[in-house]
Amino acid sequence: MKRKAVFPGSFDPITNGHYDIIKRGISLFDEVIVAIGINADKKYMFSLEERKKFIEESFKDEPKVKVITYEGLTIDLCRKLDADFILRGLRNPADFEFEKAIAHTNRRLSKIETVFLLTASKTSYISSSIVRDVIRNGGDYTVLVPESVVVKK
Ligand code: ADP
Repeated sequence: MKRKAVFPGSFDPITNGHYDIIKRGISLFDEVIVAIGINADKKYMFSLEERKKFIEESFKDEPKVKVITYEGLTIDLCRKLDADFILRGLRNPADFEFEKAIAHTNRRLSKIETVFLLTASKTSYISSSIVRDVIRNGGDYTVLVPESVVVKK
């Protein structure tokens, strides 16, 4: 059976940190499904279509990576896709505490295992929210994100 992992997130926008986790996920799984969550309560800088396009373009030469959008619980999505794993990245203790509660809950509600990859030291400080701040204030965001992320002026 194919080993499939769902990598859920907002990806507003994808950063070099996400890119690194996806790349390394490819070496562990047969398929990595990047799943962009739709949350009606959240305000995004980039539209769903833009966020999806940025990720697809970054991995256009990588057939093991799929990009989808979803609403609802990640474990329900996993069941639908027949994926046994959730992939998440860890940067710091705050990520750990947050992720721990979600992973335990998901484990309580399903058989799905969450697999954590520790961030690469080079990208450990990068977050989408910092990238958005840099963009808003006219800084050079290009060193923090894959080339596919382009901000319309
Ligand atoms: P969410 O809104 O679910 O936190 P994000 O798009 O911010 O979505 O993050 C998705 C996943 O990517 C999370 O597991 C997060 O910990 C991980 N991640 C984000 N930035 C980095 C980074 N620089 N290094 C490693 N993992 C990261």
